[in-house]
Parts: sequence; C-alpha cells; structure tokens
Amino acid sequence: MLFSVFGVFSLNTLAIADTQFVYADAFVNVKTGKLVTRPLLEIQDGKIVKITANKRAPLPQNTVDLSGHTLVPGLTDMHVHLTIDPQKHGYAGLASSLPRVTLVGVKHAKATLLAGFTTVRNLGAPGFSDVALRDAINDGDIEGPRMFVAGSSLGVTGGHCDNNLLPAEYKVTADGVADGPWGVRKKVRENIKYGATVIKFCATGGVLSKGTKVGVQQYTLEEMQAIVDEAHMRGLTVAAHAHGTEGIISAIKAGVDSIEHASFINDEAISLAKKNGTYFSMDIYVTEFILSEGKNAGILEESLAKERTVGKKQRENFRKAVKAGVNMVFGSDAGVYPHGDNAKQFSRMLEFGMTPLQALQAATINSAKLLQQEQLFGSIEEGKMADIVAIKGNPLDDISLLENVVFVMKEGTVYLQPALK
Ligand SMILES: [Zn+2]
Repeated sequence: MLFSVFGVFSLNTLAIADTQFVYADAFVNVKTGKLVTRPLLEIQDGKIVKITANKRAPLPQNTVDLSGHTLVPGLTDMHVHLTIDPQKHGYAGLASSLPRVTLVGVKHAKATLLAGFTTVRNLGAPGFSDVALRDAINDGDIEGPRMFVAGSSLGVTGGHCDNNLLPAEYKVTADGVADGPWGVRKKVRENIKYGATVIKFCATGGVLSKGTKVGVQQYTLEEMQAIVDEAHMRGLTVAAHAHGTEGIISAIKAGVDSIEHASFINDEAISLAKKNGTYFSMDIYVTEFILSEGKNAGILEESLAKERTVGKKQRENFRKAVKAGVNMVFGSDAGVYPHGDNAKQFSRMLEFGMTPLQALQAATINSAKLLQQEQLFGSIEEGKMADIVAIKGNPLDDISLLENVVFVMKEGTVYLQPALK
C-alpha cells in the first residue's frame, strides 16, 4: 500500500518538477478562429503559464519542437461509453462481467486519449466502473482522458436505460432504474454518493434497447424536474438521452443542460433550447457504423430498423439546429462504435452544416462551458490546463486532419509524440 502511494507520488512529482515548453508553427485560438503563429507555450505544474507568439530561434532547453504542426486544444467528447465493447452489443454483451467491462475500459480510455481526446463525459456505465476508471486515471495507474462520469443512467422500469433482454424469471434490472419523483431523487443521491460528477437520464426510448420506441417519452415532466432539481442542487449538470420530440421538449423544460441525440427536434424544441441555453449533443457519425457493421457486432434487427428511421432525420435536424444557432457540443456515442475513432464525426459535422471553426468549438470551448469548466480547459490560453494536441497542417482547412493527431499532452504530461526522424 505504502509502496503504491509513493509510486504515484513520485510520478506526479517528476511530471511537475520542471518548466517545459511546446513550440509549433501555429495554434488555433478557438474563441476567435484566428491562428497564432510560431507560439512558444511555457508550461508549469500542468498549466500553460505563458504564451509568446512569433517566437524565433533559439528555443529554450526542454522544448518539444513541433515545427510543421498546428496545435489545437485537447479535444473533448461529451458522450462516450468507455466500458462498452463496440463488438459486443445486444445479447453478446450479457456475457461480460463487471470486472471484465471495467478492464476493457482501460484499453478504451487509452485509445481515446491517444486519439487526442483529453476530456470525456462518460454517459452511463454499470456498477460505477466509470468511477473506477476515472480514479485509476487520476491516480496515475492507467492512461486516459479526464473523465466526467455519470455512473448508471437513470431510466424507467422497462425503458431504454433498463435491460430488457431477458425474461422476467432472470430478474434483471439495470442499476439506474428508478421511478417516481422521489425514486429518481434517491437514485441521483446514490450516484453522487458513489462518485458520479454528472447525471444522465433517459427521457425517451432508444435505438439499441429491446422493446422501446425512439419517439416515445419515458419519464414524466414531473420526474424529469425532480432529477434536474436534485442534481443542480448538488452542483452537477444533467444530460438527457432524448430522441422523440415530446421527450426532448419536456427535458428542456425541466432544465437539463444537454440533450443527447436530439433526433426528432422541431421548431419548438429548437427555440426552447436557444431560450434556455440548452446544449445539443448530436451523434451524427455513429449511424454509419450501426448500419454497416452493427449486425455483426450483435445489434438486434429491431435496433437496425430503428436506426434506419432515426439516422437520416437526425442529420437533417443537425443542420437545422446549427443554422438556428443552438449551443452545440461534440458527442459521438463512442462505445457503440470503436473508441479512438471519435474524430471521424468532425467531417460529418461539416457535411451537415457546420464551419470548421464551429466543429472545433463544439469539441473544445463549448464542452468546457457545458461542464462549467471554462476556466480550466477548452482553449489554449495562459492559466488553463496544458491540454494540447498537434496535427500536421491546419484543421480549419481540412477538419479530417483531426483523425490523425501526432502529439497529445494532457495537463502537461506527454502521451503521444511524433516519431523521431
Ligand atoms: Zn450513449
């Protein structure tokens, strides 16, 4: 025990002992959309303490020289499931134990970080496996992104966030099932007790669950209000899984911070979201994986049929939401598709109406605002965490470059570097 405590301590001490520097051709100021040329970033204790633009040689000792590269802030994904194996959907997933899904999460956490995502919001995991992952990352035992975790997703009996795969005699109920205003308050309190830092609930049916209808609302407005009130009172933000129009509208009225999927939004939902400052987190890439590879990955035929009606509509509505100026964050639902492929969604966000800067903002500064962490990360600025990603070329010219990051730093620690030539 002592040994492991000192091991962690000495690792952290090494990481923060010295001033280090990062130099590159440019970085993207995600607030203005402007490139800052030849920046030298001075980093201490995991934070950017000084930025010098137009720096000429010689560079200080202890500089990571990323000439030929552009820096962007560490990317953020506001909807992942690190403990879900994308090859084990449906009944295949029932065979994995809680320890097994936690361990597979270790692999996925590393893949996500190495893909340039330094912060994620994990929206639903069994048995507080996400809390364990987060704590192991924070303790320096494993490598992964900064995690905001939901614990179990709240859902009604038999709804999208319950587990409906087995008949009654097996007595399977998902951890997050709670009904009634006081039932859901108790579940929120339980999640907080065991380490959740965000609350997620299922406001409507979903694509990948057995026997639920995507368009149908599942919690009453009263229950949603109880969840949001309890979570906000405790200082946590709330994410609502919602596809159907009525469920989306009720969730926004209840005061949630983000709507996940937001597939069947209408004009009323869009204007309510704008009025309340609600964020939409629309996973518009995942449909391609579900429809092409989902069958082999164990996704049920009824789910494939649902996706065929949802995916196209969601993409059209993404365009509408962007045009209307709704707050948008990058949320991929990675876990349904392979971890580390998160960034494939960027090009689809452009295809369906965003500018390159809007897509980059969705995955940086907007997420930081949603999480109420804007003072800590989301942009490359003096005083913020040194969460930095480098790519070859300018992502504002070609957003798909973000699929191939070559350098990843989280809080001043380097996890990926370009190969030495
Ligand atoms: Zn999800």
